[in-house]
Amino acid sequence: MSTVSINESESLLKSKLKEVFGYNQFRGNQEQVIKSVLADRNVFVIMPTGAGKSLCYQLPAVIKEGTAIVISPLIALMKNQVDSLNMLGINAQFLNSTLSKTDIARVKRDTIDGKIKLLYVAPESLTKDENIAFLKDAKISFFAIDEAHCISEWGHDFRPEYRRIRSIIDRIGNLPIIALTATATPKVQLDIQKNLYLEESQLFISSFNRKNLFYEVRQKSKTKDGEGSKLSTRDNKQKGKSKDVDKQLIEFIKQHKGKSGIVYCLSRKKVEEIADYLNVNDIKALPYHAGLDAQVRVNNQDAFLNEDAEVIVATIAFGMGIDKPDVRFVIHYDAPKSIEGYYQETGRAGRDGLEGHCLMFYTYADITKLEKFNKDKPVTERDNAKHLLQEMAAYSESSVCRRLQLLHYFGEPFDAQDCGNMCDNCRRSTAKFEGKKFIELVLTAFEETEERFETTHIINVLRGVESDFVRSYEHTNLEAFGKGEQQTEVFWNSVIRQAMLKGFLEKDIDKTDVLKITELGFKFLDSPTSVELQEDRDYETENNEAKEEVLNSRSYDEVLFDLLKKLRKTIAKQKSLPPFVIFQDPSLEEMATTYPTTESELAQVNGVGMGKIKKFGKPFLEKIKAYVKENDITTASNVVVKQNANKSKVKIFIIQQIDLRVDLEEIANAKNLTMEELISEIEHISDSGTKLNLDYYIDRIMDSERQEELYNYFMEAETDDIEEALVEFENEYTEEDIRLIRIKFMSEYAM
Ligand code: ADP
Ligand code: ZN
Repeated sequence: MSTVSINESESLLKSKLKEVFGYNQFRGNQEQVIKSVLADRNVFVIMPTGAGKSLCYQLPAVIKEGTAIVISPLIALMKNQVDSLNMLGINAQFLNSTLSKTDIARVKRDTIDGKIKLLYVAPESLTKDENIAFLKDAKISFFAIDEAHCISEWGHDFRPEYRRIRSIIDRIGNLPIIALTATATPKVQLDIQKNLYLEESQLFISSFNRKNLFYEVRQKSKTKDGEGSKLSTRDNKQKGKSKDVDKQLIEFIKQHKGKSGIVYCLSRKKVEEIADYLNVNDIKALPYHAGLDAQVRVNNQDAFLNEDAEVIVATIAFGMGIDKPDVRFVIHYDAPKSIEGYYQETGRAGRDGLEGHCLMFYTYADITKLEKFNKDKPVTERDNAKHLLQEMAAYSESSVCRRLQLLHYFGEPFDAQDCGNMCDNCRRSTAKFEGKKFIELVLTAFEETEERFETTHIINVLRGVESDFVRSYEHTNLEAFGKGEQQTEVFWNSVIRQAMLKGFLEKDIDKTDVLKITELGFKFLDSPTSVELQEDRDYETENNEAKEEVLNSRSYDEVLFDLLKKLRKTIAKQKSLPPFVIFQDPSLEEMATTYPTTESELAQVNGVGMGKIKKFGKPFLEKIKAYVKENDITTASNVVVKQNANKSKVKIFIIQQIDLRVDLEEIANAKNLTMEELISEIEHISDSGTKLNLDYYIDRIMDSERQEELYNYFMEAETDDIEEALVEFENEYTEEDIRLIRIKFMSEYAM
């Protein structure tokens, strides 16, 4: 590589990306990470699920000489990943306990002969002496450590054998390492870096913000077996008119008919029960849990991947085995054990960047139940588990933007304004109140107790609880003592959480459940200012009707899309592959938007490389040709195809972003367009017959009265000429206002 100049290597990277993987562009940090790996640097990559971690080591593995060793804890996933790579024409293999002796010998021989670009190895195989000896003989390009959070006991998926990886790599040779994970709180990050000696490595942290995921928490009420009726006092304030959870479940899934989804439950028993219940209600669902026979598990997972089952019902214990890009909803029937777990599990929705609805049914009774499971664990482990659970409870009960809370948990700054109403709390925000004096009181209490005590103690001090513990520290003498006795424990908990979210307090990285005042917090104490706080959700007064908004209005040719999906399924069946290995949904959507009928047109579609065209292109092209002919779509096809590829790319991008309700300013920024140019593009899209729903944006910039006035104008006007409208309203509206309403009007009436 060293002889290749920067420019050459840049175009080499791009062309390899297209040629091998079929992608036109790198996403996020991918390109920088890949360059670092190619330059033999150690790198540490933190990227949320679905962001495209795999490519960060797969592409360098293809380019570099030798074999890249990928350490991954998930034997179940290995075959899948290896299959996908083989489909792309990359020679990848795996080495784990499921292989026969002959297969192991073959894989080793091929590795030594330099035939294999990527070799997936389970950590327990890596620790075996004979494998270390074999790896010493192989020409290794680098080590990739996937799911690196398994190293940390502070994480939610600790695997002791992961802690030995570094010493084993050192025995094999001095080789570059790329460590990757999708979940790492600042504390876990530090742990990983220390353990892998990666303190000096290049760190790439991507945003954890999964913009296309909609987060929602609903109160879990009575269930058939009455377990929900054992509500704790904490739940009493939340017990409301909410509908039976099982009924809501059915309604929700029926609203997502034909789409893939996962339902997570706490126990195996519940998994079986819910799977049965769904089937009785005509929803094709299969169970998945550790108690099932291995073959049944494999079959059920395959049925889900192959879309013979719409829904898989699984235990939370069942980890990362489901790797399907078009999961459209993830439901937590029971509360997860940690926010990391929740983030990971919900992260399986919408990996392809399209719609993903994450719905959780919550009751504090679930938290209590989970706490009971931990009672036999060693003390530190139990305390850690308890702490993780409390964080989960706080998240579920809070009325603050879910996205803000999640990102804050992973140490990422975020402004709730940017959520784009993609969480229940933003859509249905609760009352706000002036929080100055409460924040001041909280911070004073922390300061007076020298930031050494757990939150429960601080709340006792605030509420004037004269316990032995409080007395033993003479905390009854503090200024803050008893100043908050008017308010409940729940209230103070919520104020403290919000003080953290606003950056006045932060977690002590060394001590669990102890908070420290930040610089901002001290500044506030010096001169307190107005702070807006949010009241907790009151489920009692909320009408918890399952109002499902359509998050994703379709903007492609649905009929063709369905045909292509069917074709994909048939081919998948013939080749015994999961459908998404052939083409992913976004690619099919794009085909159903641009109607490619030749190989070169097809190659323009994102996600379609030459490898895939050779393997699968023909039947798809034939199907599209037949469809175009049958439906006389020559015009549409010609228009789109005649445009240069980049231009139609921009259009598709705009359509997708509008579907995801991204603000127009943001879309314009992303594509370097002025607002005026963006609106022109949108007009073109709309004029050529694609329905666009801009309400989310129009509602933001215009009140309903003004919208109505303009709307009525177009209803009666002789022409939709913008100039005329401007004149008519004597510049009372901006040109932008008028054009947007015109688009709205046209999509509602002219199509
Ligand atoms: P992660 O391991 O981070 O969860 P994956 O590596 O499985 O994510 O990638 C998630 C999805 O994104 C996959 O469907 C993959 O094909 C797709 N993908 C990755 N990189 C790109 C890219 N540069 N352009 C388009 N799609 C991509
Ligand atoms: Zn939000």
